[in-house]
Amino acid sequence: MTSNEEWKRRREAAVPRGVGTAHPGIFAERAKNAEIWDVEGHRFIDFASGIAVTNLGHAHPDLVAAATGQIDRFIHVCFQVTPYEPYVALAERLNALAPGSTPKKTIFLSTGAEAVENAVKIARVATGRPGVIAFSGGFHGRTMMGMALTGKVAPYKIGFGPFPSDIYHVPFPAPYLGVSEAESLAAIEMLFRADVDPARVGAILLEPVQGEGGFYPVSSNFMRELRALCDRHGILLIVDEVQTGFARTGRMFATEHFGVEPDLMTAAKSIAGGFPLAAVIGKADIMDAVHPGGLGGTYGGSPVACAAGLAVLDVIERDALCARADWIGERIAARVGRLAQHDSGIGDIRALGAMSAIELVIAGDPAQPDPARTSAVVGEARARGLLLLQCGVRGNVIRFLPPLTIEEAILDEALDILADSLAETVTLGVAA
Ligand code: PMP
Repeated sequence: MTSNEEWKRRREAAVPRGVGTAHPGIFAERAKNAEIWDVEGHRFIDFASGIAVTNLGHAHPDLVAAATGQIDRFIHVCFQVTPYEPYVALAERLNALAPGSTPKKTIFLSTGAEAVENAVKIARVATGRPGVIAFSGGFHGRTMMGMALTGKVAPYKIGFGPFPSDIYHVPFPAPYLGVSEAESLAAIEMLFRADVDPARVGAILLEPVQGEGGFYPVSSNFMRELRALCDRHGILLIVDEVQTGFARTGRMFATEHFGVEPDLMTAAKSIAGGFPLAAVIGKADIMDAVHPGGLGGTYGGSPVACAAGLAVLDVIERDALCARADWIGERIAARVGRLAQHDSGIGDIRALGAMSAIELVIAGDPAQPDPARTSAVVGEARARGLLLLQCGVRGNVIRFLPPLTIEEAILDEALDILADSLAETVTLGVAA
């Protein structure tokens, strides 16, 4: 019989250790909506969704039908050779859905990092300026530019430099980490005095809710201030919606919460429910700044992925998954809120729609992160049949990413497991 242990041994021999794995001892065999079964038949509730990808759950029938229908027609011809309908149809839908009233255009790529790369390429051509400002704690991918823009050294950047130049970082406004919005904005002004002439800056890039960084949302006020600052200096505002998009935060895009129109937006992950697809969606005149032939990629906008993407949008709209995301987030926050009354180690509970997380600290002190207990909770939950993901600049955040289609009873079962796992590790959260 195949076993997790046997596959783990084979994986260790065949795959480099640089590819980190949250749950290395579980080899997935099949999955249905919010449940995954491993090769030994163990069942797990999926609170990871393949890192915010399967917002529609595993094997959603509409997604399967859309993809297999396209596979039957053709799998690949390359949009740069002969264009095809699903690419254009999905671009039209996303252009209409993107925040703000300015006409939009969309290019498709294959991964989130590639979308970020292309957003920077487009911004540089459109403005004629090289500089890009990003935020500490942000994550933007593992390519050279993605790493350069990412604001976390370990493990993403160690040993991989030199990185592209003209990239600057300022502190992300996260009150729980002691960084106010005013300080973050002041850091940009200081950057303009100390490091780079704003006339050389083409773009400011940020996640509306930092994902890998720890699920810290920005505020409407901060986004408005940033928009105004960009407009004062002729800088483009790029929002990275790779992790936040497609109903996860209770809106199609998280930026909708904040009432500003970005110039460019990156999307990926849940855009096609698991098929590799990414996009840059932006103001049409900015997107058209790049000369013909300057953008593209062999697999960018795969017809199968685009067909799946159209089904994702249909299901989100038909099944009101934005409202469902709000409901999920409220249910998680209510349950964890009750636990926090008796567990001083739960320092903070954050939720924007279903994009929710807890931050574990020692004895309620935000300045004392507790990554050891965080790992212990993830391990306990796994042993009890729940797959969780750790994140955060300090490694002490557990993010909850269930499919938005998760059945109510399974959501509650998962929250019971979470409660037991927190109770099991509670002594770790007490000051020594
Ligand atoms: N941007 C953000 C905000 C992300 O969360 C991620 C992936 N975690 C990326 C970019 C990179 O996406 P990919 O892994 O598809 O390259």
